[in-house]
Amino acid sequence: MPNMRSLPKIMIHEHLDCSPRPDTMLELWEDIGFSRAKIAFPAHVLETWERARHEPEPNRQRLRRQAAKEYRQFLAGFASQSLANYVNAIGDHILPLMQSPANLERISRERVEDAVKDGIIGMELRFAPQLHTMTGLSLQEVMDAVIQGVRRSPFPIKLVVCALRHENGDMARRLADLSLQYQTFVGVFDLAADEEANPGILDWWLQEALRVRRESNNRILLTVHLAETRKPTERDRELVRRFGIGRIGHGIKGDWEQVYEVCPTSNIVTGQVRAYDEHPIDRFYREGKKVTVNTDGTLFTGVQLTDEYIKLSKTFGWKADDFHKVNMTALEASSFSEAQKARMRAKLEREYGH
Ligand SMILES: [Zn+2]
Repeated sequence: MPNMRSLPKIMIHEHLDCSPRPDTMLELWEDIGFSRAKIAFPAHVLETWERARHEPEPNRQRLRRQAAKEYRQFLAGFASQSLANYVNAIGDHILPLMQSPANLERISRERVEDAVKDGIIGMELRFAPQLHTMTGLSLQEVMDAVIQGVRRSPFPIKLVVCALRHENGDMARRLADLSLQYQTFVGVFDLAADEEANPGILDWWLQEALRVRRESNNRILLTVHLAETRKPTERDRELVRRFGIGRIGHGIKGDWEQVYEVCPTSNIVTGQVRAYDEHPIDRFYREGKKVTVNTDGTLFTGVQLTDEYIKLSKTFGWKADDFHKVNMTALEASSFSEAQKARMRAKLEREYGH
């Protein structure tokens, strides 16, 4: 098989706020003041970071990379202990860094740069704009900053706006209006966050989701985080069918005709699947289900999409044909324009030898 990193890839489930670079985070935290983090930084991370300051190049870069690696491991370890820790790690260590246009733009831009190195040729990037308004930015200012960050992307990008399960119809309406206002950039409307506390398809979300789709003339698609941590109810399955929700975020605890946005490593980090070789993705794929492969985010998982492909290849023996197929599934399920899809389809066919 050709080099995994250079293979063209399409990713349709990726959270911006789970993907900042750990070295960028350390830099931004240094500006704010490390002592202001609610979850204390481990001493060894700060020591390594501090030592880097006094070292000449290239030692300086090496130590900074080491500090970033240690910091990432600390956060991933902390987050993987419980769902509460996971949520707190995002809230206490990531979101404080994503409250200014400059930082939002930088983190978005760097996400695209990393995707380029990862062989990605089309990406849907999701986030909850309302989480970035804590120090006074408007929802529009948040959107503008993220759009500015991804503006120079060499490949097509669509944004996914996430309503959160603990919110309400009021917020969903504002996010729906925002999505419609920015529909050149927003391709998908999502429901995310803790499925245990607020399970299933929530009516207030569904109502606004259907409005977004209708008022965008079906240009904005719907997805929903579902069956990531619990089995779907018959009602959920019925609503998904009846309202033509085409994609399910994760979905691994259910049996769907819809497109699965599978994020294998993420499911292991959050304790939903014990080990990679026990992940149902291979069985789903062999059964002919509509499977796509994604990382969910690079920070807690510690993987780029290339790493997921390598794991799938090593664990389940996936070959170029298999990767071609999941990419075609992602492409068809995506919100890219027909012209963009045609270009990406041609690229996939060429590079996977079809
Ligand atoms: Zn997700």
